[in-house]
Amino acid sequence: MITRSPNLLQSIASTRDWQAQLSDAIRDPRALLARLGLDESWLPGAEAGHALFETRVPEAYLARMRHGDPHDPLLRQVLPLASETDAVSGFIDDPLEEAAHTPRRGLIHKYHGRALLIGSPACAINCRYCFRRHFPYAENSPSRAQWQETLDYLRADTSIHEAILSGGDPLACGDKRLAWLVEQLDGIPNLVRLRIHTRLPVVIPDRVDGALLGWLSATRLQTVMVLHINHANEIDASVVDACARLRAAGATLLNQSVLLRGVNDSIDTLAELSERLFAAGVLPYYLHVLDPVAGAAHFDVPDDEAIRLVDALRQRLAGFLLPRLVREVPGERSKTPLISMQGPHS
Ligand code: SF4
Repeated sequence: MITRSPNLLQSIASTRDWQAQLSDAIRDPRALLARLGLDESWLPGAEAGHALFETRVPEAYLARMRHGDPHDPLLRQVLPLASETDAVSGFIDDPLEEAAHTPRRGLIHKYHGRALLIGSPACAINCRYCFRRHFPYAENSPSRAQWQETLDYLRADTSIHEAILSGGDPLACGDKRLAWLVEQLDGIPNLVRLRIHTRLPVVIPDRVDGALLGWLSATRLQTVMVLHINHANEIDASVVDACARLRAAGATLLNQSVLLRGVNDSIDTLAELSERLFAAGVLPYYLHVLDPVAGAAHFDVPDDEAIRLVDALRQRLAGFLLPRLVREVPGERSKTPLISMQGPHS
């Protein structure tokens, strides 16, 4: 069980109701622009993008943006733009061909040894570059009975050792349901690890409350939480505190980022991100090149530029601070490293 220090208890006691923060998230482009003091000339484009993929920005995340700066790297991740309506060759609705790997409702089984469960169809934030922005969540939101089928699948395939909760964002789910699900996973003998892919501790750090820490620390499964942070400005004191609570509950913290034009496509920005992550107890793990999802082409950084950036980063950082530059290729049995693909740096 978790041993809570007085500081940790105080930190948990000061968290605000995350569900209220979730439902109060900004969902209107006009309100988003007004809150940041931005010019209305951005509105037509924002509304066009919003019509394709709804705006969603929690206040706790918005508070870390620079007022009056339309190019703020956090805002750029969430502000809908007219360019999302452009049809760009090669950018499609299901770039990872996940529909072909869904043996049960809410279950994606692509890689040996691990299976991914869609823990929740919802997210606390809508990232404009999300490769699941067109994912048919409505068809993949299992009921309790359907969960049972998924659990039976995991039990029957004894080669599966790791259950991955993903989404949407699995932590958008209530703790009662998550506690039930994790207890069921706990009871599957072939599982040794639980991995949780989430952005919630970053965008609403108060999500890491006593109820979450309760089920997280109670499982026999080794827990790995893979956060998603793209820029050092996302890591404020509240995120550092949330990470400390998660680590105190026994979770190993990793981060995956996406290389995004106009957000983190510079050596200084990536170096600062790695340093700030490590200072918060989070290991930089993956730097993904953009998945070619329709609506996100304006974020794309070409492979040769991505490789140059990471090579330069290697000169700057200790090896354990260097994320692996990868791409997810449909049909491949694992993520594909870009550097080793080039030969000399493998
Ligand atoms: S799944 Fe992740 S990347 Fe996609 S919108 Fe949700 S939080 Fe953002």
